[in-house]
Amino acid sequence: MSEETTERAGAAFSFLGDGLRLAVLRALAAGEPPAGPREGAVAYSDLRREVGERDSGKFSYHLDKLTGRFVEKVDGGYRLREPGREVVRLLDRGVVDGPAEFEPTAVPARCPLCGGDVHVRYGDHHVVTCCGDCEGLFGADGTPDGTLTGVVLPPATVEGRDPAALFEHAHRVFRRRLRAMVDGLCLECGGDAERRLRRCPDHDAPTGRTCGTCGTAYPVLAELVCTVCGRGRVTHPLFGNPDTEDATVVADPARPWDRLAALLSWDATALPGDAAGEVAFERPDGRVRVVLDDDLGVAE
Ligand SMILES: [Zn+2]
Ligand SMILES: [Zn+2]
Ligand SMILES: [Zn+2]
Repeated sequence: MSEETTERAGAAFSFLGDGLRLAVLRALAAGEPPAGPREGAVAYSDLRREVGERDSGKFSYHLDKLTGRFVEKVDGGYRLREPGREVVRLLDRGVVDGPAEFEPTAVPARCPLCGGDVHVRYGDHHVVTCCGDCEGLFGADGTPDGTLTGVVLPPATVEGRDPAALFEHAHRVFRRRLRAMVDGLCLECGGDAERRLRRCPDHDAPTGRTCGTCGTAYPVLAELVCTVCGRGRVTHPLFGNPDTEDATVVADPARPWDRLAALLSWDATALPGDAAGEVAFERPDGRVRVVLDDDLGVAE
């Protein structure tokens, strides 16, 4: 995100840092159909009544400030513009002030790296799956010990779900997001996703440990970054890769975690010579082999 964009976003947030303005956006959102074309409008007097502001001068002043960027005035009253809707969505997702963390909870899964017990936790808007017995896939500072995956979900999606169900759900979401990005699309913003293989030049990760060079337990990972909104994801290069799913069926498609776990047991070998840049992935039984080129396309 450019500095200019960040400045504009900051200005928009401080502009909205007023309870009355947010109440107007929420009231307009409540009057909209849940899907499909947005029709109609909320009359000025209805809007003021719903917001519950007695001071008409103050109400008019704030509504006027919102009009143009977040709200539009149409025949019969006011309605939201898309940026106004996006603000309400952010609030509803609990992105700004949501509750919630839960403590590590055991789930019925094994660590693909060491066979140890796996647990799931929620904090900082990430559903994090960790191994309790080894260093996990990512040994980076700031990630919980034993981190295997971290999936961003807002508090509103997490609230009220059983941790074991959330564990499955988060990996379904993760795989879907990855599929789109491997395809070159960021579903969150519609931007282009850059794709590349991140190969460790000198990988050395004894069982249960991360490598001193790349900081992870697997020698080759897919790195997917949106060029517009900056969302970035790192995972096993065959997980969520739509071009390799048929060739590499390893587990129940309804349980993406099983698939990811199985793929982490595959060998990954960087190819030499003319094929430099490509990586061969091979199932432990030697019966399936997939070669990916540097931007995650299937080379053979
Ligand atoms: Zn482990
Ligand atoms: Zn390494
Ligand atoms: Zn994006």
